[in-house]
Amino acid sequence: MDPKNTQLRIFFFPFMAQGHTIPAIDMAKLFASRGADVAIITTRVNAPLIAKSINKFDRPGRKIELLIIDFPSVAVGLPDGCESLDLARSPEMFQSFFRATTMLEPQIDQILDHHRPHCLVADTFFPWTTDLAAKYGIPRVVFHGTCFFALCAAASLIANRPYQKVSSDLEPFVIPGLPDEIKLTRSQVPGFLKEEVETDFIKLYWASKEVESRCYGFLINSFYELEPAYADYYRSVLGRRAWHIGPLSLYSDFEEDNVQRGSSSSIDEDQCLKWLDSKNPDSVLYVSFGSLASLTNSQLLEIAKGLEATGQNFIWVVKKAKGDEEEWLPEGFEKRVEGKGLIIRGWAPQVLILDHRSIGGFVTHCGWNSALEGVTAGVPMVTWPNSAEQFYNEKLLTDVLQIGVGVGALYWGRAGKDEIKSEAIEKAVNRVMVGEEAEGMRSRAKALGIQARKAIKEGGSSSSDLNAFFEDLRSRV
Ligand code: UDP
Repeated sequence: MDPKNTQLRIFFFPFMAQGHTIPAIDMAKLFASRGADVAIITTRVNAPLIAKSINKFDRPGRKIELLIIDFPSVAVGLPDGCESLDLARSPEMFQSFFRATTMLEPQIDQILDHHRPHCLVADTFFPWTTDLAAKYGIPRVVFHGTCFFALCAAASLIANRPYQKVSSDLEPFVIPGLPDEIKLTRSQVPGFLKEEVETDFIKLYWASKEVESRCYGFLINSFYELEPAYADYYRSVLGRRAWHIGPLSLYSDFEEDNVQRGSSSSIDEDQCLKWLDSKNPDSVLYVSFGSLASLTNSQLLEIAKGLEATGQNFIWVVKKAKGDEEEWLPEGFEKRVEGKGLIIRGWAPQVLILDHRSIGGFVTHCGWNSALEGVTAGVPMVTWPNSAEQFYNEKLLTDVLQIGVGVGALYWGRAGKDEIKSEAIEKAVNRVMVGEEAEGMRSRAKALGIQARKAIKEGGSSSSDLNAFFEDLRSRV
């Protein structure tokens, strides 16, 4: 049979957290729309949410199957149903959650044995899938969920350990060997790189690094024009086979998709859009810290004061239910900002909001999905990293792309304990919203947003890389 006509069967196995599942669903839809036979492997509790988001996509010739596995929450001491990282609310639960994922191997083994897909796209946090897939001669492709820049920065820190050569936590050092001079402090280096103790997460992190040289390749949610020097560095200096196919959020082909990304919105979308419609272009600040970060009440209080002091319009997403406002909102806050500020308690339709013409700035924790969604929407950002690889992403936005201003976060993993004062928030917000500097950042961001859209069109860099990925898989059939 002519390999060009082979119906590719591609399975996705995303990590159970919104920041990993959302782009995996986008990828699954993208691959299915290109004619592949696609399945997503997920757990019972996560399945209905994923099903909701793929059902709309279901039409003749484009089907995504869900393959359900059991998640051993109870076996590791987690409450029954704790199958998504955002539900693991303490450091102990966080470690147990990662331990549970290492117990999924027999179920994935069965699935691969039974279905024999042409490729398994498995999250970076499932390192054991590399050897498992190899057992069946199936290429395991890694999905990291981050950008080339962050992968290059991490590789350099791991190889060179420059943070061991400075005399204090706050003394800046240059990340060696990168295309640009990028400075960090030891306090901003991820704890899992520095710590000697072997937690479940740390074991998994190093296992995922150890298998990388044996993985078939890497799918990257980015586009070439965003970070060409780092895309080249990743491939030629680090020697990784990679296909950039992003921004994945742009593939949601219905507006409705953007509403339903991840979870159901905590606000009526029409009401939200109407509110945005009533504002001038580029006049609203969007504030969100992603799906996982939890801020202390005193930090939220500083944010509220900072936002009010700017006098800017804003939409602020807070992971709190209605009821305990007195602990994190200054008295009378909502009354005073009525008409100017909208608080969304819970889950926001983020892409829908960011893409609205009224949005003029974004305060972000620099999770890669959010950062890229900000780039795609063409908005300048206030960067407020917290954990994971977010401090690298901050540097890409501020130092390399020059479309962001740091709020001054200094300590990895200490959001809330390392409080940022309202004055710093006010200052950073004003820098991205008004004045010449803001206009410069905004026009660079808008230009990148246009390039992002070009990248996914026929002949664009991401579309071409996706074709190359499919051709590569077909050549193996
Ligand atoms: N998100 C959303 N609404 C929210 C919070 C998050 O739609 O209220 C989406 C956001 O658009 C992004 C993802 O959830 O696609 C979060 O991923 P990211 O990498 O930014 O951060 P994480 O949550 O993994 O820290």
